[in-house]
Amino acid sequence: MSLTTPPQDATFAEPAPSALLLLGRGVDLASERGVECVGALPAASDPDLVERAHAARAALGDRAFVLGHHYQRDEVIDLADVTGDSFKLAREAAARPEAEFIVFCGVHFMAESADILTSDAQQVVLPDLAAGCSMADMAAIDQVEDAWDVLVEAGVAEDTVPVTYMNSTAAIKAFTGRHGGTVCTSSNAHVALRWAFDKVGGVEGTGKVLFMPDQHLGRNTAVNQLGLSLDDCVVFDPRRPNGGLTAQQLKDARMILWRGHCSVHGRFSERNVTDIRAAVPGVHVLVHPECKHEVVTAADMVGSTEYIIQALAAAEPGSSWAIGTELNLVRRLARAHADKQVHYLDSTVCFCSTMNRIDLPHLVWTLESLVAGRVVNRIVVDADDAHWARVALDQMLALPGYGA
Ligand code: SF4
Repeated sequence: MSLTTPPQDATFAEPAPSALLLLGRGVDLASERGVECVGALPAASDPDLVERAHAARAALGDRAFVLGHHYQRDEVIDLADVTGDSFKLAREAAARPEAEFIVFCGVHFMAESADILTSDAQQVVLPDLAAGCSMADMAAIDQVEDAWDVLVEAGVAEDTVPVTYMNSTAAIKAFTGRHGGTVCTSSNAHVALRWAFDKVGGVEGTGKVLFMPDQHLGRNTAVNQLGLSLDDCVVFDPRRPNGGLTAQQLKDARMILWRGHCSVHGRFSERNVTDIRAAVPGVHVLVHPECKHEVVTAADMVGSTEYIIQALAAAEPGSSWAIGTELNLVRRLARAHADKQVHYLDSTVCFCSTMNRIDLPHLVWTLESLVAGRVVNRIVVDADDAHWARVALDQMLALPGYGA
């Protein structure tokens, strides 16, 4: 593939594959892609499901530790030993070496991170193997390796540092570790980007960051927090020859953004912000940085799920809020803050469908299987990827002011 080919001349050799594998079409434990869960699940109508879940949980005692991501259903959160975002949960698991089984009620890449950060004696299980992440699926390792070859051919790879969002597969984290980059979270993306630019001459210089897989988090952080311009950003589309970019565009860019997004946060629009301001005078609009740039720019506040939770906790009684993040979390925030008005930024945006794959039947099946001595749906990252992904995760932990 020639780098001199301009994007408008690009032709597709074959139809682009869907980013998501439809459920039940196969089993690929090494990816985020949806796969069929083969368990003999109890009926969702079983009136004893909650009782069965508590009984199995009690029987396992300290041998198991149940993690619940903020976007999980209420009935799953009720059974979690700790709740949090993906990285907090992985660290909580690592801090419980006595727990033989880590039951991760989240999505596949989160269970992978927990496997990387926990000891070899601990086994991480995902109650439903179909709980993947569409964003993580948008950056497959072969695509990223091909993209790096394009950067090498364009003569910019030496001046480029890869930064991957926590929401990526272990293979992408390992790629990042092998190429001297770092992982970041939505809380510390600005610190990670500054560090990466400093490696190649500083934010004011000519070095570049390859940011994966969420173009919105990368763009929002670079433009709103580091002072780069939208013209400094290009989008690398892995389905187009050379990412749809010329060598000159790659040379001129400072942020090479992978063409990925969150299927939940990507649905909020600038119009939603305009509409809620008209409907609720004085409303504070608070959104997640995975939202589009125009939404983040139109909002009053932007931050990670932990930031959103803390902002609501610190808000004045009687104040009004419109929240742009996953619906399960917003509903719980509305219940927890009955003294404030909490609105969902767009009433037509739905739950994270893959997070919601984990339900009581899957959790009961998982816990009862563990009680019976059967480890089901274990998530294991191969040793080489685990090593290099750990390098990238440790680099994040070593960032100045980590967590700021
Ligand atoms: S909310 Fe978005 S980023 Fe998070 S798991 Fe769902 S699809 Fe992935």
